[in-house]
Amino acid sequence: MAHEPSDGPAFETRAIHGGQPPDPSTGAVITPIYQTSTFAQSSVGQHQGYDYSRSGNPTRTALEDCLAGLEGAAHGSAFASGLAAEDAILRLLDPGDHVLIGNDFYGGTYRLLSQVHTRVGIGCTPVALTEGDLLAAWQPSTRMVWVETPSNPLLRIADIAALAELAHGRDALLVVDNTFATPYLQRPLERGADVVIHSTTKYLGGHSDVVGGFVATSDDGVAERIAFLQNATGAVPGPFDCFLVLRGIKTLAVRMDRHCDNAAQVAEMLAGHPMVERVYYPGLPGHGGHDTAREQMRRFGGMVSFTVHGGESQALAVAKSTSVFTLAESLGAVESLIEHPARMTHASLAGSSLAIDPALLRLSVGIENIDDLLADLRAALDGACAN
Ligand code: PLP
Repeated sequence: MAHEPSDGPAFETRAIHGGQPPDPSTGAVITPIYQTSTFAQSSVGQHQGYDYSRSGNPTRTALEDCLAGLEGAAHGSAFASGLAAEDAILRLLDPGDHVLIGNDFYGGTYRLLSQVHTRVGIGCTPVALTEGDLLAAWQPSTRMVWVETPSNPLLRIADIAALAELAHGRDALLVVDNTFATPYLQRPLERGADVVIHSTTKYLGGHSDVVGGFVATSDDGVAERIAFLQNATGAVPGPFDCFLVLRGIKTLAVRMDRHCDNAAQVAEMLAGHPMVERVYYPGLPGHGGHDTAREQMRRFGGMVSFTVHGGESQALAVAKSTSVFTLAESLGAVESLIEHPARMTHASLAGSSLAIDPALLRLSVGIENIDDLLADLRAALDGACAN
């Protein structure tokens, strides 16, 4: 991904300036928080581009332009949460349509599919993302292939270009959840995906202080429908939330590099610890998706999962024993988090064929000093070993 000056401003520069020229009315260097619900009209229908903040707001426009640009998308729509963004994408479908989804993904997505959209006639089949499995599960009504890569929580890697070719050959859209990678590490649209979805709550916001979502696409028809749904269903982020995500994006590149540095060392340490059964990190050469990740990602990301010997009780003991890693849901912020997917983020998968191994722990490796992170994890693992 070497950057040539002739390509125009590089990612890091666009993350800071994209969609955010100095405010035209005051010269403010930072896009103001336009905390207003409505906008004056000089006569009926005559206004300066905005009439009501559900339909559009200048702080939201700055975020939409900036993040769409970073994804290499022609269009972007910001939402009140990642799930609100997912809901809008699923509303592109009609009753009777069918979605194939990779067999490892966020529990809330499963809940949205299995308890909301299936009720209105959308079919859904989780499937391993090999060509053979996809073709075996393909139905005449399949309109969408949905994939997280890297996936949550098992860090599986899907080959985006191969999936795009397969989906397009059968008249389906490829949707990629790019939350774990961010556009700094991976740009799915450049590899043929039709739609990118984000929980901006995570790395894009980056500071555990905002909940948000995003849809990026270069398909004009999809973009028009998503923008319609954004206004019609109204799950929009407020101006202050948009400001927080915009501010987070300015430091995305430097944060991601540090997340990647730290996660690589954490994964290596875990792989050598006697208490650890298996480590899931695409940067490890033994990871099944390592080669594809090398090909389609700049680096391997900041998320690491692992199973411990001794099953759930040992996993719970480790989870409550760390002190620099905070036991909490969510991911992607400057501070390190540890969580138990089976009981926390992926509890809604319990009892299904997708249920998560209760010996699994997921780490969101933050940007603290690596020695403190390693010492914290070692102490928690050694303590659990001793018991
Ligand atoms: N996609 C992924 C990969 C996630 O991990 C999450 C939440 O954890 C979501 C989507 C949903 O985002 P939100 O919590 O912002 O609704």
